[in-house]
Amino acid sequence: MVFVITGPSGCGKSTLIKRVRRAVRGLDFSVSHTTRARRPSEKDGVDYHYVSERVFARMVRARKFLEHARVHGHLYGTSRAEVESKGRRGDVILDIDVQGARQVRARVPGAVLVFIMPPVAAELRRRLRNRGEDSPEAVKRRLRNARAEVRAYAEFDYVVVNDDLARAAAELKTVVAAARHNPEAMAAELRPILRSFAK
Ligand code: ADP
Ligand code: 5GP
Repeated sequence: MVFVITGPSGCGKSTLIKRVRRAVRGLDFSVSHTTRARRPSEKDGVDYHYVSERVFARMVRARKFLEHARVHGHLYGTSRAEVESKGRRGDVILDIDVQGARQVRARVPGAVLVFIMPPVAAELRRRLRNRGEDSPEAVKRRLRNARAEVRAYAEFDYVVVNDDLARAAAELKTVVAAARHNPEAMAAELRPILRSFAK
């Protein structure tokens, strides 16, 4: 199953994904490609695959991306190979922007899309500033983009307000657990039960 976590930059997507992955088995993270420069706190191949615009453009032409978008001035994309290889072993979780989430919705039947809503605009600003990873101009740009992004919440399957981190993480875990109980996701577990009734 493919889980998509989306929402404005700084709302807490990567923090929540890390928390949920620690608590839930079989949920692998899809490492995106980006042309953004690596932040000091990040690792190549773990947080992102860092590539040049030229390499990214070549991958777009070769149809390597399941979805891709320009976000806050940089290119980001989810490679098909990443989702396919990790998806063979279990569920995959994507941290992507609203434009990318829309593309996944259109291309991946059964994908579960979760929108993370910041508790209030001023708190989003505070989180982006305190994270200390983006220049003041980059923070401004991300806040400007957030205005339109928050209005898209109703396009997705679930919404989690990330106010208290522990509560939001618990809510996201609940969403994952519920989605894993849809009939399609339960099919393998149900097969022997159904066989027992066929005797
Ligand atoms: P995103 O991945 O959506 O851009 P991050 O996960 O990097 O956002 O979170 C942005 C900043 O806000 C980080 O410094 C993170 O530690 C902090 N943060 C995330 N969730 C909360 C929360 N519920 N309360 C306070 N700070 C939070
Ligand atoms: P950051 O630069 O803060 O890591 O990420 C900026 C934004 O890009 C975030 O909203 C994040 O979700 C989004 N993003 C990260 N990877 C991808 C991706 O592969 N595709 C798309 N469409 N957005 C991505």
